[in-house]
Amino acid sequence: MNSEPVLVTSPLLPDLAEFNQYLRQIWDSKWITNNGQFHQQLEKALCEYLGVEFLSLFTNGTLPLITALQALHITGEVITTPYSFVATTHALWWNGIKPVFVDIDPTNCGIDPDKIEAAITSRTTAIMPVHCYGKPCDTERIQAIADKYGLKVIYDAAHAFGVEVNGESILKQGDMSTLSFHATKVYNTAEGGALIVKDAETKKRVDYLKNFGFAGETEVVAPGINSKMDEIRAALGLLNLKQVDDAIEKRHQVAIKYREVLKSVKGIRFFDDMPGVKHNYSYFPIFVNAEEYGMTRDELYFKMQEKGVYGRRYFYPLISTFSTYRGLESSRPENLPNATRIANEVICLPMHHGLTEEDVDLIISLINK
Ligand SMILES: *Cc1c(COP(=O)(O)O)cnc(C)c1O
Repeated sequence: MNSEPVLVTSPLLPDLAEFNQYLRQIWDSKWITNNGQFHQQLEKALCEYLGVEFLSLFTNGTLPLITALQALHITGEVITTPYSFVATTHALWWNGIKPVFVDIDPTNCGIDPDKIEAAITSRTTAIMPVHCYGKPCDTERIQAIADKYGLKVIYDAAHAFGVEVNGESILKQGDMSTLSFHATKVYNTAEGGALIVKDAETKKRVDYLKNFGFAGETEVVAPGINSKMDEIRAALGLLNLKQVDDAIEKRHQVAIKYREVLKSVKGIRFFDDMPGVKHNYSYFPIFVNAEEYGMTRDELYFKMQEKGVYGRRYFYPLISTFSTYRGLESSRPENLPNATRIANEVICLPMHHGLTEEDVDLIISLINK
């Protein structure tokens, strides 16, 4: 057994001496938040890196979801999936919006476009899909449905940092996309996030909304919130951005190694790379078919823990099973057969830039009995 536990993720951290130099500049300027120079630099650098034009930084990845719904005046019902981190649905609830759960497509764990139209009612105003594990949703079909019914589309792209389809950022899809820069994500600012929008006018409005609605010293134009990123985290973000490509490449190598061995393990399914997609290897989910594999997901999960390997069951339990949402009509398991099955099959294997060959060998040996 390894002396150190192998965890599902590990935060990317910059060189401390380099971070100290940035901190020194912040201390000297005495400007520690409110659109300071590092905040401005990071917005610009992220736009360039991600290939988007209009991005606003936030304190975390949940507030851009909440703010996007505010900025687009979304009300009534919103179609989403229960196979996500709970923040996706909470963002709707906090806006007084009723979530309507639609099942997922098992080939990418994103919303199943075939099932969206049946969930649309006269109160539906938007669709909120999730690029789960950074696998692109079927954005073309989702947009076609949204256009047909006059709905907005807000992508929870918390997992999709740097993901491109045919050379173009996935973050350009829909009306808005959100990112999370939480410590557990591919790219982090400890806590942080962003909202990507399509035009300068909308960015301006979002920037008002994330600062109480202030449009000037004495003018408040909307009931805003406070979700501004501070200078310290923006500085951390600038440094992490320099090493994120390297970290993604290291994750890629781990994925290659996992796939090499797991492809011959009966009862274990995983995702291959998709043609035309630049992936970020944010997660490495495996799906355990208990009958074929000869062991349930939980048996494997806890067996790995006994040996010091801590995967995570993302996403189990489904959001639709939590007490707040359980009573909704769309939460019935019969409405969500794929999500229900996959939530009982999934383990996200450890996946980060710091995994050693020994770590990966240990993990593989535990699965490949
Ligand atoms: C991490 C995550 C969020 C929330 O991000 P925070 O930065 O933790 O607030 C939202 N949606 C999904 C799918 C996530 O994985």
